[in-house]
Amino acid sequence: MVIVERQRTIEQDPEVRAKNFEEVSKGFDEKTMLIEAARCLNCKTAPCKKGCPVGVNIPEFIMELQKNNPLKANEIIKKTNSLPAVCGRVCPQEVQCEKYCVRKAKLGGSVAIGALERYAADAGLKSQEKVQPPKERKNIKVAVVGSGPSGLSCAGELAMNGAQVTVFEAFHQAGGVLVYGIPEFRLPKDIVQKEIDKLKELGVEFKLNTVIGKTFYVEELLKEYDFVFIGSGAGLPMFMKIKGESLNGVCSANEFLTRANLMKAYLPDSVTPIQRAKISVVVGGGNVAMDAARTALRLGAEKVYVVYRRSRQEMPAREDEIIHAEEEGIEFMLLTNPVEILGKDKVEGIRCIKMQLGEPDQSGRRRPIPIEGSEFDLKCDQVIMSIGTSPNPLIKNSTKGLETTKWGTIVVDENNETSIENVYAGGDSVTGAATVIMAMGAGRNAAKAMLKKAEENK
Ligand code: FAD
Ligand code: SF4
Repeated sequence: MVIVERQRTIEQDPEVRAKNFEEVSKGFDEKTMLIEAARCLNCKTAPCKKGCPVGVNIPEFIMELQKNNPLKANEIIKKTNSLPAVCGRVCPQEVQCEKYCVRKAKLGGSVAIGALERYAADAGLKSQEKVQPPKERKNIKVAVVGSGPSGLSCAGELAMNGAQVTVFEAFHQAGGVLVYGIPEFRLPKDIVQKEIDKLKELGVEFKLNTVIGKTFYVEELLKEYDFVFIGSGAGLPMFMKIKGESLNGVCSANEFLTRANLMKAYLPDSVTPIQRAKISVVVGGGNVAMDAARTALRLGAEKVYVVYRRSRQEMPAREDEIIHAEEEGIEFMLLTNPVEILGKDKVEGIRCIKMQLGEPDQSGRRRPIPIEGSEFDLKCDQVIMSIGTSPNPLIKNSTKGLETTKWGTIVVDENNETSIENVYAGGDSVTGAATVIMAMGAGRNAAKAMLKKAEENK
């Protein structure tokens, strides 16, 4: 039997793409899509489906692609996933659906479910078809706080079911991390905008530049709306609390990426200032660290290091992103941790210590332990901290009765309802920094619970 190997998507050459902000992966062309779709065995038990946090009917949509029906495939995906063009690009499929694909071990590799999803979703976005708002409008008013994936999917599910939805967003642009965090070269912003436009066609209203907890309080929203959904994310960056962290040239990955992405500082005519470093050090090992490092490189850095305290195996970033960063010339300093940032006013270097792995900690990953006397200095003029984020305490501090954990995340029940009746929450504000699809799943779960409650209270 001839085994057809997993097809590769078209990608920009690493040397070329390291100097531009255009999308790295161009996805499948029609011919490759058809070869890849034909690899799906349409398994009766569909183990892949169990690995999808929102339960997309994977074999069913791939079957439509086998018949070269991308629009039909997109329709099937859209039944459970309101942002497929985003998920097809950024979901960690290798640890979700693709991990369970029966072809993974011996049949040429898992079916490239993510890239096929992207193909179908892009066809959907390109089609001129307008989304039809539901004929029957329900007398349910919902305020959604935050326009990231959790808020957008919550708003989409509610609007599709006839509810009247208003999204309140602190920034001047909707999309949450999808617009301010994840760079253009991984997720083009016009794709996010098209998804938002589709929600507007469904009747969702967006109120931008509106900070809940400052402009309005949750209590005020509850007077005007039947339900409130809090999807305010986890955008507060953490720092290491080491000497030298207040020097000029140290910033959080969130600030750096927000300047570059949301404020378009990478464009030559942008008025947003951003440091274009010569030697940049990014501290951390997640997707955010990879995005910051690759952005620093594209902004002109001659050398970019990623300093991470564990080994490559424990890096939380997606495998693809790590490989892309390596191909572009980013140097990984693994089992290494900063102890001090050096310089008088500006960053001149970073002092690090070598680490070794001990017993597993609470996260199940082996605990990194410093190796005494192994300190060394690295010359650099920029340090970008990417060691994690937590929810901004504004909503917690301004909403009486809202139960939160010691980490500042909002406590919810299985329906995503908080300690305040009719106030729901989901996404990173509940779980801490997680993934797009988890946030979307939570938003959808909350929307369904609100619709059910409204029906019961009729
Ligand atoms: P967010 O996306 O953070 O959106 C929250 C929104 O609420 C923001 O727009 C914020 O401005 C707004 N807001 C906050 N407070 C208020 C307020 N008081 N009033 C009004 N509005 C408010 N996940 C993946 O699956 N794959 C990836 O490749 C990936 N890469 C990432 C790269 C980066 C740089 C970052 C930062 C995250 C990445 N993630 C990735 C994680 C993923 O983006 C998040 O888990 C997801 O966006 C969380 O969605 P959310 O809706 O909970 O919050
Ligand atoms: Fe297709 Fe793999 Fe899912 Fe089987 S497990 S239905 S081969 S994608």
